[in-house]
Amino acid sequence: MQNRRYPTDQEARQEILEVGRRMYMKNFVAANDGNISCKVASDQIWTTPTGVSKGFMTEKMLVKMRLDGTILSMGELKPSSEVKMHLRAYHENPEIGGVTHAHPPICTSFAIAGLGLDKAIYPEALVNLGTVPCVHYETPGSQGIPDSIAPYCRDYNALLLANHGALSWGKSLMEAFFRLEAMEHYALILMYTGNVIGQARELSCDQVQELLGIREKLGIHAGGIPPCADRATNLKDVVCPNRGVAGACPCGRCGRTGGVKAAPPPAAPAAQGDDLERIKRAVLARLAEKMQ
Ligand SMILES: [Zn+2]
Repeated sequence: MQNRRYPTDQEARQEILEVGRRMYMKNFVAANDGNISCKVASDQIWTTPTGVSKGFMTEKMLVKMRLDGTILSMGELKPSSEVKMHLRAYHENPEIGGVTHAHPPICTSFAIAGLGLDKAIYPEALVNLGTVPCVHYETPGSQGIPDSIAPYCRDYNALLLANHGALSWGKSLMEAFFRLEAMEHYALILMYTGNVIGQARELSCDQVQELLGIREKLGIHAGGIPPCADRATNLKDVVCPNRGVAGACPCGRCGRTGGVKAAPPPAAPAAQGDDLERIKRAVLARLAEKMQ
């Protein structure tokens, strides 16, 4: 890509430390899990070493590499064995400027269930992320992993690795990290709506189409398209979400109403009304005094 501005070495190292701290604080990684990389020239990246917590890294620990795997600069520790997957992503898609890999608990649970994230349920996930396929299992650190992700690096923004974790990339390292955040959020909502709440209204094909137009305008040309619903089911206001719960809403079975239009209380309604009127008059009198 011509006229592309890459981060300086210093900027890239700082950004890797910052993303590492955030990944650790957000519980996306435990112990020494995860790895991060940032491109600083068309064939060079900075990346994280093996065997350190991403929450406690220093600049001296980081490793500079060429995309062919040659190490240009390092501290006492070698690069992570999973850097192979980062290098492959950069090879497959030269637009990629940063890659993050972590084991966020909900994404990892979907990856263990063998489920991709692909429901059209809310705009941000659809626009910034699209769908997130779950690629087949390969042993962490093996050559199988880069081979498993390769077919997806141009057409998607993030992947789940079966029984392992999450991988995301972007034009910059921050964009890659935000996608990692976004996919964990997406997975959380899919879990609530699918497995805890047990219901999700999917966006209709027209609604998805409109969001895809926005995505295109934002310059996001990858991301996949989730399946959509034939017709919109979200065009009516929901004013009575607990239909059927006694006293909350009109009951579907007995027709008893409560909630918004509450039935008058059975005991001494008139006296209560009088009390309210008396309190109101007292408050108004006090206000009038204050204003004089
Ligand atoms: Zn991993």
